[in-house]
Amino acid sequence: MATEEKKKASMLESVKAQFEAAADKMNLDKNIRKILSNTNNEIVVHFPVKMDDGSVEIFTGYRVQHNSALGPYKGGLRYHPTVDLDDAKALAIWMTWKCSLAGLPYGGGKGGIQLDPKKYSASELERITRRFTYALGDNIGPDYDIPAPDVNTNPQIMAWIADTYMSQKSPKERSKFAHVVTGKPVGSGGLEGRDRATGFGVVSTLRNWAKWRNTSLKGKKFIVQGYGNVGQWAARFLQEEGGIMVAVQDHTGTIYNENGIDAFELLAYTQMNNGGVAGYPKASEFDGSEFFGIDCEICIPAALGNQINGSNAESIKAKVIAEGANGPTTPEGEAILAKKGVDIIPDILCNSGGVITSYFEWLQNRNGEIWQMEDVIEKLSKKMDVSFKKVTDTAERYNCDLRTAAYIQAISRIEVAYKERGVFP
Ligand code: NAD
Repeated sequence: MATEEKKKASMLESVKAQFEAAADKMNLDKNIRKILSNTNNEIVVHFPVKMDDGSVEIFTGYRVQHNSALGPYKGGLRYHPTVDLDDAKALAIWMTWKCSLAGLPYGGGKGGIQLDPKKYSASELERITRRFTYALGDNIGPDYDIPAPDVNTNPQIMAWIADTYMSQKSPKERSKFAHVVTGKPVGSGGLEGRDRATGFGVVSTLRNWAKWRNTSLKGKKFIVQGYGNVGQWAARFLQEEGGIMVAVQDHTGTIYNENGIDAFELLAYTQMNNGGVAGYPKASEFDGSEFFGIDCEICIPAALGNQINGSNAESIKAKVIAEGANGPTTPEGEAILAKKGVDIIPDILCNSGGVITSYFEWLQNRNGEIWQMEDVIEKLSKKMDVSFKKVTDTAERYNCDLRTAAYIQAISRIEVAYKERGVFP
């Protein structure tokens, strides 16, 4: 418990430290620095839900809205025991930078419910989700704050949120509100390709990194932490580029095979085994505490925050860390990696494919259109390339690492908005 508490506090500390470093480097206006150091709204709701056995449980849900200078708040909902106000704040702040860097008309939000979803039946999860949506009320909305999937939430959960929100509107207006969430199933207004977008984006930044470093992804060994939405799609796309996955870690265990683990076969296995990689027969079990020290060229953390830190960064062999997860590297871990010459493709760039395609879904719903998969992937790919170039150009101009460069890009856009509009009244 004590370790868990420490971990949670440091995620907020990480995002603050990253912001301060970039703000110093770019000489950010002191008033704008003050504004961006705070979150606009922090909503905490406690709500009752009837369980399958007739008893009632009280749940706590969060939604933090960091900044809306560029548009409505946007960001995921997480269902996990570690969710709390500080976590939600850190993740909301990261969303502000991510949306700005990607050039989207959004600010940052994040939230979730503190619970272990594995302990609940599907019908309980549906009632928990619907009651949470009801409790949030008009604190979310298609032109105000638009949630999306995150850890342990998926298209089905987004469909329940959309339905609950829309059901509280007049039947004549219902259809105007489908874009209150993104990441919905395709049949309920979701976007073709949204499912794979974050993983695709991770590999697209790796392709760009390889070009930038004058190397190739072909034959490169990689390891993946987290084999959920982001991890498994990234693994499949990277394998298609010629990468060789040698180890995977998730909440059930760590598996290793120096000759390669087939990303598609492993996915099929997890789908038959409650989503876990443990026991995969074509790999051996591995000591989880040694995971990040495994010999490889590419490391993709795609699970939770603070995984690469002062206690394991020294052991890392990878030449590049592609941050599929939000906040997987602590500042302490990052300082060690910098000394070792390891490149970090920062989360706000690396995993931005998800929010970019969420924006496409939002546009599709607003305009009553149906987009095709090829168009989605092509548009996403172009946007990822543009963002990567902006970040590397900024890194060269300021002579800084990729994370600081990404922050400078993101913060500059918000700084311009504040300078043009001023601060009311
Ligand atoms: P998910 O729920 O689909 O998968 C989470 C994975 O993390 C699972 O494989 C789980 O086993 C693993 N995991 C959980 N606890 C772990 C632990 N202690 N050690 C190792 N593995 C553990 O979630 P996701 O949507 O793939 O999100 C993963 C990360 O990517 C999160 O940090 C999320 O914020 C970030 N992210 C997700 C998206 C998206 O579109 N889904 C977009 C941007 C960023």
